Amino acid sequence: MNRLPLFPVTTVGSWPRPPAVLEAQRQLRHRRITSAEFARIADPAVRSLVEQQEQAGCDVITDGELRRDNFYSFVATKLDGVRLMTLAEMLDVVEDKAAFERLLQTLDVPAYSISNPTAIGPLKRREPLAADDLRFVRQLTDRQIKVTLPGPYLLMRAMFVPEVTGPTYATKEELGEAVVDVLRDEMTELARAGADFVQLDEPVLSELAFAPGRTRTFMCAALAAGRDPAEELELAVSLINRVLEGAGVRTGVHVCRGNWSRDERTLLRGSYHPLAPYLERLRTDQLVLEYATERAGDLLYFGGKELGLGVVNPRTDAVERPAEIRVAVEQAARLYPADRLFLNPDCGFGTFSSRPMNSDGIALAKVRAMAQAARELRG
Ligand SMILES: [Zn+2]
Repeated sequence: MNRLPLFPVTTVGSWPRPPAVLEAQRQLRHRRITSAEFARIADPAVRSLVEQQEQAGCDVITDGELRRDNFYSFVATKLDGVRLMTLAEMLDVVEDKAAFERLLQTLDVPAYSISNPTAIGPLKRREPLAADDLRFVRQLTDRQIKVTLPGPYLLMRAMFVPEVTGPTYATKEELGEAVVDVLRDEMTELARAGADFVQLDEPVLSELAFAPGRTRTFMCAALAAGRDPAEELELAVSLINRVLEGAGVRTGVHVCRGNWSRDERTLLRGSYHPLAPYLERLRTDQLVLEYATERAGDLLYFGGKELGLGVVNPRTDAVERPAEIRVAVEQAARLYPADRLFLNPDCGFGTFSSRPMNSDGIALAKVRAMAQAARELRG
């Protein structure tokens, strides 16, 4: 494994899918092509993205989640017991249709664009969630590799639809246990296959902290209404910690305020402060947090942890200047030891494959700006 320089540069996960990959995803979904045919299109796209990241100065490489439809629903294609349900199908099965319809009206993502991975039977890994994708990238680069996985709290919330999940898992907590088992197995396989860094994505935590009682959110995960936010956050900490225990690789937890719209007014707002007591207790090496947007408030110190510092906004056309990135890192270095700071964007550049937040050209320019800033800071 390559040793990392100071201020390692990396990304948070998703990258805008090339048109050919997007089309191949569509074909695969409608079973018009086989997964081998899909790989013939996706493999060169991933290879090209790995090369681009290397050339741009990324120290920790990802595969850009190019093969995934989005950051969490792709698990339906990898697990037994999970089925993608459109919101129309969910409306058919839920008992309180009026309440569900009211919820749909408050969503700011078009309902037709979402399919929810729903637990309909016992969860079982039919194939790895990400280990095969990692093995492919491992052949392409000597640099460190980060793998992103949906976190256990996010998956539990998304997958639990009482009317269809109930016969197998009576409560969402029971489903949560099964999710932990699946993710632990995946972590073990990822460590064996040469992952250097595994990041769990838990964006729903911000919904608990910043939008209690509000229904407007970016994924149906939040439709499985919770108890009081503090209890939900305790549950999240417990699930995440059990997935991370004994991981054998660097681990990270990413929490942002949503990354589904370029209209900043629709995204959640608030400092990480209310989440801090929970984030502090996560047994993760690193917190990957957004700080390039003023919606994230003041920089907080999390003792004993690395900070994946968000220094570029994935949703804007303007490319941050290396000088302004440097200032942000220097400010963070007043709180954190320099060897505990990573540089990354606030979130992925392409959350949903069909609705990327940016073009690949701008995404790459932003990575180059981070790398330039890191070089200057190292100097
Ligand atoms: Zn994010």
